[in-house]
Amino acid sequence: MKKLLPTSTAGSLPKPSWLAQPETLWSPWKLEGDELTHGKQDALRLSLQDQLQSGVNIISDGEQTRQHFVTTFIEHLNGVDFENRKTVRIRNRYDASVPTVVGPVSRQKSVFVEDAKFLRQQTNQPIKWALPGPMTMIDTLYDDHYKSREKLAWEFAKILNQEAKELEAAGVDIIQFDEPAFNVFFEDVNDWGIRCLERAIEGLQCETAVHICYGYGIKANTDWKKTLGSEWRQYEDVFPKLQKSNIDIISLECHNSHVPIELLELIRGKKVMVGAIDVATNSIETPEEVAATLRKALEYVDADKLYPCTNCGMTPLPREVASAKLKALSAGAEIIRQELTAD
Ligand SMILES: [Zn+2]
Repeated sequence: MKKLLPTSTAGSLPKPSWLAQPETLWSPWKLEGDELTHGKQDALRLSLQDQLQSGVNIISDGEQTRQHFVTTFIEHLNGVDFENRKTVRIRNRYDASVPTVVGPVSRQKSVFVEDAKFLRQQTNQPIKWALPGPMTMIDTLYDDHYKSREKLAWEFAKILNQEAKELEAAGVDIIQFDEPAFNVFFEDVNDWGIRCLERAIEGLQCETAVHICYGYGIKANTDWKKTLGSEWRQYEDVFPKLQKSNIDIISLECHNSHVPIELLELIRGKKVMVGAIDVATNSIETPEEVAATLRKALEYVDADKLYPCTNCGMTPLPREVASAKLKALSAGAEIIRQELTAD
């Protein structure tokens, strides 16, 4: 029987302190060469173990083998010059020094497929793999070649599709595209962002997801959130078109966020990864708090389409906090499973 309310994480989990500086985004590796290769695999095993012990049902790699959810992928592509950097504004929120697109972008070889095969060998649980979405990728670069956001996004979509097909062949059950940019550039999302995403999943048989969030719990994001007012209605602008898209699952944040839960009505019929864990605080949710979030979501999402999840990645959190939050997620989901089967 298919598990009711299968739990998962949005993606990243803390890395062990011997691999990278904890509680830090973009944390540089502490190992190199073969030691780094084996260290990443060992960290992936630990992350898997932690997820299993916390009762997570759909396993991710915890992004143990990448430094950053967008840049690590881009580093493997041709056409991007990492020496030639420009300062741009990321998602209209904060300035960052980013690499420059200097020629046609292409992928010489797979980026994450060996890591995905390694995870596949370690567990029989369903596995989910995250890739950056095309629109979020272009927002993390300075484009000196295509000089068109749409054209560059389309090229990235083709590259992502090649990678996704190889991940599927490696046994990945769900391929997720992280598109926090969908919460910012509404017009572009509706004009071509969703079309690019559909290009990225073209021909895939496995399930596909898009993760749209308000970001990690870092200062630039929490400051931005303070400007959004008491009701966060960003999802309202993109949900209607997403509902009609070929994407199977939509991953979004709910708990402790100011997103009106009734916006879920706009994607009725889709599977929804409901964020029931706040990644912007170290305080641990109680199982009852998780259950309350899921209960509210159930008014708009059919039980067989509801996937309890975290609001976003947890890489900046202390390891023990992340573990405790995953246990709360599982315990909260179990409360709701009991309620649903008792009817
Ligand atoms: Zn996120």
